[in-house]
Amino acid sequence: MEKTVQLYEGKAKKVYATEDETLCIVSYKDDATAFNGLKKGTIVGKGIVNNRMSNLLMQLLEMKGVPTHFVKELSDRETLVKKVQIVPLEVIIRNVSAGSFAKRYGVEEGIVFDEPTIEFSYKNDDLGDPLLNSYHALALHLATKEEIETIKAMAFRVNEVLVEYFKALGIRLVDFKLEFGRLPDGKIVLADEISPDTCRLWDLATNEKLDKDRFRRDMGGVEDAYKEVFRRLMGE
Ligand code: ADP
Ligand code: UDP
Repeated sequence: MEKTVQLYEGKAKKVYATEDETLCIVSYKDDATAFNGLKKGTIVGKGIVNNRMSNLLMQLLEMKGVPTHFVKELSDRETLVKKVQIVPLEVIIRNVSAGSFAKRYGVEEGIVFDEPTIEFSYKNDDLGDPLLNSYHALALHLATKEEIETIKAMAFRVNEVLVEYFKALGIRLVDFKLEFGRLPDGKIVLADEISPDTCRLWDLATNEKLDKDRFRRDMGGVEDAYKEVFRRLMGE
């Protein structure tokens, strides 16, 4: 399948149309941004790690009964996916306090929750992705009641599968962001990516950060952290 026109260039990926109007090709870049685009940089090799990691995890999730947009890995950086209409919600699941949760509620990072939490942000860069609840999402017609219920159930199922999977690799899945989309028949599938850009991943033994927080917080060792996650995923 060949790329035709570029449909979109985002902060981390480009999206291309193909000859098949139901499919598109995503191309992962090494560009990194944080704080809604305020901080910019490059993480060498990130595009390859994020592409291959997302594809591996999407295939695992498919096997566990979670429908995804994944079709076929085309190269190190490019993947054929089902074209979806993205539901403009960032769905965030948390197992451990960190990031904006810790800041907003004035608690330290690293508190292990009894049960995972879920929250939504309105995917809107101009507004800075504001937090909203499901009633707000309904009022704004971002999704239907049924879609929101489906998305919640799928997101918690993704968490169950990934927590267990990462644990076996010596990694604690602290939190992550998911995006969902609608296929032409209205079916909801998991879309976008699952990578160290979109997850907080801490070494189980040392709590060392193996994710984009190293870039956000100028901690150094960013490339090595991405490579380390990838190495463990590859079973090395
Ligand atoms: P952003 O838009 O936040 O800068 P990216 O650089 O990752 O993010 O751009 C990729 C874009 O492609 C995102 O807007 C994402 O919602 C969208 N997307 C992801 N998967 C699909 C898909 N299967 N079909 C259509 N769009 C998708
Ligand atoms: N996240 C993301 N994209 C966003 C916002 C958050 O991928 O636009 C991920 C982030 O990497 C983390 C989780 O969602 O794994 C929770 O992020 P948080 O709300 O703590 O926000 P942040 O600290 O990134 O501002």
